[in-house]
Amino acid sequence: MNTTIYNFSAGPSMLPQEVLQQVQNEFLNWNNIGTSIIEISHRSLEFQTIVQELEQYLRELLDIPDQYTILFCSGGARGQFDAIPLNLLGNDYSADYVNSGYWSNSAMLEAKKYCLPRKINVISQIENKISIMPMKEWNLSNNTAYIHYCPNETIEGIAIYEEPNFDNKIIVGDFSSCILSRKINIQKYDLIYASTQKNIGPSGMTVIILKHKLLNIHNKLLFPSILNYKTLFKYQSMFNTPVTFSWYVSGLVLKWIKKQGGIHFFEKLNFQKSKLLYDTIDHSNLYINNIHQRNRSNMNVTFKLKKPHLNNIFLKKLNKHGLKFLKGHKIVGGFRASIYNAMPISGVQKLVQFMIQFEKKYG
Ligand code: PMP
Repeated sequence: MNTTIYNFSAGPSMLPQEVLQQVQNEFLNWNNIGTSIIEISHRSLEFQTIVQELEQYLRELLDIPDQYTILFCSGGARGQFDAIPLNLLGNDYSADYVNSGYWSNSAMLEAKKYCLPRKINVISQIENKISIMPMKEWNLSNNTAYIHYCPNETIEGIAIYEEPNFDNKIIVGDFSSCILSRKINIQKYDLIYASTQKNIGPSGMTVIILKHKLLNIHNKLLFPSILNYKTLFKYQSMFNTPVTFSWYVSGLVLKWIKKQGGIHFFEKLNFQKSKLLYDTIDHSNLYINNIHQRNRSNMNVTFKLKKPHLNNIFLKKLNKHGLKFLKGHKIVGGFRASIYNAMPISGVQKLVQFMIQFEKKYG
C-alpha cells in the first residue's frame, strides 16, 4: 500500500514540503550567523531583511496598492474580532455583520461588547441547497460604521466569491481561510485580515491589510494598545515582540507561492482540486454535500455519509491509507477536506480514489 501521508487539517495545516525542508536545513545556523533566526532580536538587521521580504512578497502576490498599510500582529483572527470594532467604530454605535456561518457569527458576538451590531442574514436555499444571497440583496444599512463578512466559512465549507461593491461603506473581510487562494481585487476592501495558520504559514501571526486612511478614525473608546492599529503602525508592527518563527516561515511560504506561479497558479489548481472532490461527491450515492455550487468552498470541502453508521469505519480506513485529519468540525459533524495551497493535487486524487473504493465496498 502507498503510505504517503496527506494532511487535510483545517488549521494549523500542512505547509509546503520544500519550505519545511529549508527550515530544517537552516534552522541551527541561519544564513551563517551561527544561531537560528528565532534566537536573535527582531530589531536586528538580519530579522529586518525577513520583515522586508515578508511585506514585499505579500504586496506583490496580492497586488496591494500603496494607499494600503500592512500590519502584522498577534492574537489570531479572533483578536481582530475585538480590534475591528475598537478601531473602526468611531462615533457610530453599530456595524453590519453579515451572517454566513460560524466564524462570521463569532465576529458579531464579540462586537456586541462594543456596539449594537446588525445581524444581516444572507443564507438562503436554492433547490434545497444552502446558498448565499447575492450581495445586491443584502439588507445593509446606510448608518453603520462598517460591514463585516467572511468570504470563506472554514467550518461549514461555504464561500462567497462575489466581490463587494457598496458605495461609501467601509468593507471588512475575514480572509483567514482563503487568503492567497484566488485572485481578489484588494481595492474593493477597506480592511482584510487573516491569521496565518492555513494559507500563509505556522500559527502565531495575523496579517491586516488596511487602507491607510482608516488610521485617522478617531475613537472615543479606551482599549489595549496592542489592538490599536495606530500604535501597531507607529511601531512598524513591533510594539510587542513579534512571533518571529511565524514571521520567518510565513516569508518562506510566500516566496514559495511566488515561485510556483503566484495566485494565478493556485487559483487554477485550487479549482481543479475542489472540482475533483465535488464531482466525486455529486456522482456518488454515499457522499453528500448540500451547499449550492455557487457557494461551495474550494478550500474546505465538507461532506457527510448518507449512512452515518459507516462514519467510524470510514475515518479509520482513511487514517490507514495515510489520509489524515478529515474529521469534520464538531459543530457540523461529517467530514472536511481542507485543501489549502500546500495540498498537492496528488493528495486529492488519492482521497478521491479512496472514496470511490470505499463506496464500492460499503455503499
Ligand atoms: N475566522 C476564520 C474564517 C477561521 O477559519 C478562524 C480559525 N479557524 C478564525 C477566524 C479564528 O482564527 P484564530 O484561531 O487565529 O483566532
